[in-house]
Amino acid sequence: MNIHEYQAKAVLKEFGLPVSRGGAALTVEEAVRAAQDLPGPLYVVKSQIHAGGRGKGKFKELPPEAKGGVRLAKSIDEVKANAAEMLGNTLVTVQTGPAGKQVNRLYIEDGSDIEREFYLSMLVDRETSRVAFVVSTEGGMDIEKVAHDSPEKIITFSVDPATGVMPHHGLAVAKALGLSGDLAKQAVGLTTKLYAAFVAKDMAMLEINPLIVTQDNQLKCLDAKISFDSNALYRHPDIVALRDETEEDPKEIEASRYDLSYIALDGSIGCMVNGAGLAMATLDIIKLYGEEPANFLDVGGGASKEKVTAAFKIITADPQVKGILVNIFGGIMRCDVIAEGVIAAVQEVGLTIPLVVRLEGTNVELGKQIIRESGLNVIAADDLDDAAQKIVKAVRETK
Ligand code: GDP
Ligand code: MG
Repeated sequence: MNIHEYQAKAVLKEFGLPVSRGGAALTVEEAVRAAQDLPGPLYVVKSQIHAGGRGKGKFKELPPEAKGGVRLAKSIDEVKANAAEMLGNTLVTVQTGPAGKQVNRLYIEDGSDIEREFYLSMLVDRETSRVAFVVSTEGGMDIEKVAHDSPEKIITFSVDPATGVMPHHGLAVAKALGLSGDLAKQAVGLTTKLYAAFVAKDMAMLEINPLIVTQDNQLKCLDAKISFDSNALYRHPDIVALRDETEEDPKEIEASRYDLSYIALDGSIGCMVNGAGLAMATLDIIKLYGEEPANFLDVGGGASKEKVTAAFKIITADPQVKGILVNIFGGIMRCDVIAEGVIAAVQEVGLTIPLVVRLEGTNVELGKQIIRESGLNVIAADDLDDAAQKIVKAVRETK
């Protein structure tokens, strides 16, 4: 789960990390009030969307020479003018995709005088099974580009969970960033607090880009992006409360309501499968036959008719879907339940696109019979290979 920058900074502040003062705003009036609470004379007006690259982003509705999604303002009037120009408009950044994201919220921050910009992130490194730090002197810019052009400028190390974070980790950060004296001391404190926050809140990723040195020699987190481990959210109701559903795919929200593992993809074939392994194999075989899956969807082991109906509705709600493949291996999940769910859903939402159903396992004959007798225009398949070929063929015929 992702949160906005202003929320991420509030979390960091809880752990004693240095962030600028600021206030969130949904309207121009709130933006002005937030600015009035700050000392000035420099303010920053920041678009709050779940995507990075805002500074270099462009608003769809504004002329190309207009400023991006992060703007400096030298007076309250400038804050007001910028807020009016940004709110409600669509910001396109390298991370939003061409559709962009509507800016419904701003964060008005006390402007900092920047001496140097660094990059710092933390993530769970699957290879070492540890929390890793990634630091670079090349902050503020596209870290992917730095990784590609000058990988030697990126320093990574991980923390042994048995010892936790130690002063030498902080010194490693200081060294990587070329900091000495009091700034090195600040880096040690920062590293310790970041690690504490990361572990305590079950973060999956934390990115500070840029981490800055101000002109009065203070380290500060000028930007903050946090993703939390969804599997640990049950123990963080305070974090769950920060969820902004307007930033998420509505199909994924609906799926989470029914406890379905659903991830939207870009292709044209909707998939309903039970079991994550079989779901992935289904995606692979669709690609093998030259088409692209529209989603990953695991209905789980003991899915009810209601759950199957919900899953089917979520798939058909996607306008990109040109055909559906239902691939069920009935173990705990019975084929007749799947068949009834599919029929109920089709009767409710209608079916205007080809549907291929492959059933195998418990009560398979009964399941097939239910589908046959439903009178629905369903293409039956014998095995996974046959099913994939049939749906690919059917979708191509509609193109
Ligand atoms: P991003 O573009 O989405 O990564 O948003 P950031 O929060 O990183 O802001 C983009 C850039 O705006 C930063 O890299 C800074 O160069 C600049 N910026 C942000 N806040 C301030 C500030 O307080 N003072 C100054 N001078 N520049 C800022
Ligand atoms: Mg940034």
